[in-house]
Amino acid sequence: MRTGIFFYYQGGERLRDFPQALKGILEKDNVFFYDAFYPSKPPSSFDLESIPFEMLYQVHTTEMVEEVRKTGDFEGALLSAAATVRASEKIWMGEIDNAFVFTGYGDHHAGTQFFGGGCYFNGAAIAIQVLRKRFGAKRFAIIDTDAHHGDGTWEIFEADPDVLYVCFCADPYWEENNKVNIQVPMRVKDEEYLKLIREGFSPRFKIFQPEILFWNWGYDGTQGEYGDIGLTPECHILLAKELKAMAVENSGGRFIIVLCGGSRRDLARYLIPQVIEILL
Ligand SMILES: [Zn+2]
Ligand SMILES: [Zn+2]
Repeated sequence: MRTGIFFYYQGGERLRDFPQALKGILEKDNVFFYDAFYPSKPPSSFDLESIPFEMLYQVHTTEMVEEVRKTGDFEGALLSAAATVRASEKIWMGEIDNAFVFTGYGDHHAGTQFFGGGCYFNGAAIAIQVLRKRFGAKRFAIIDTDAHHGDGTWEIFEADPDVLYVCFCADPYWEENNKVNIQVPMRVKDEEYLKLIREGFSPRFKIFQPEILFWNWGYDGTQGEYGDIGLTPECHILLAKELKAMAVENSGGRFIIVLCGGSRRDLARYLIPQVIEILL
């Protein structure tokens, strides 16, 4: 498959080893690398194009966008959202088949008029509105396996039956209007967690038949992370394999992994290249 990697270099520890840790991947003919701000670009890379503010307003209020501007993280937040939007446009136009998005700032705690928890703009939500407006896309799925509840994504699509959103977190089971929360126990074994995904997500995804799948992938639920629920690093690899196969079967292979929570540099270095290899 042709895989796009969208990269915005965030200061701080987590992604310090990137994109160097993608050596051997970036050189492949079926890999397209789009980055912003990175000083020494690999030879085959493209610039990550930003998005106009009007795209932000399709999801967020103008007041909220102004609040983000005051934080000093506006440019990074904008480029993070831009990465998800550009990835989905390129997939839709058939330039690439799937994508991995390194967001500097995550998605799922950003709602129409609130943000927090390291999230400013909801990239997946903006991408969905752009795909609708620009290409007439109709049905979308988002699976959220960050350890925390995606309150922003839930709120944005609460009244929207054409977006299937399945969130796996500590909150109790709830289901309305194709928004589903699957409760994950505080301590969980990999096998148990994968079973929750197979039972809670797969059947709904198959019936829903969306045109594209977004995966809000956080690894903050891994042992030793700030959202530790007991998962081992291997669980993420198994999950990536299953979700990719499901996307190939049910959403024409159109699949975007959006990096969400997780802070450890060693885990990023260990997991991200393996997850990207699964996309290829
Ligand atoms: Zn989280
Ligand atoms: Zn949740």
